[in-house]
Amino acid sequence: MSHLRPPHNCTELMSDISMLLDGELDRHSENRLMDEIQKCPTCMQYYNNHSAYKKNVAQKVMRKACGESFKDNLRAKIRGL
Ligand SMILES: [Zn+2]
Repeated sequence: MSHLRPPHNCTELMSDISMLLDGELDRHSENRLMDEIQKCPTCMQYYNNHSAYKKNVAQKVMRKACGESFKDNLRAKIRGL
């Protein structure tokens, strides 16, 4: 009986993908993971969904940050009057 390692495990890759999107993987693991993702439609979809979600969150955070500094500017102006 030959012991074959499963070539691809979506469940395991999904946690790797989260780490990748959080920027927690090194360049080498990142490249290997991207290869793996591109071979599998399930992982590809998971990756796309999550990178879209992260981008969305990043944009919201940025918008909020802009809003905050705008308010701070306003507050500074009001204080200066
Ligand atoms: Zn997969």
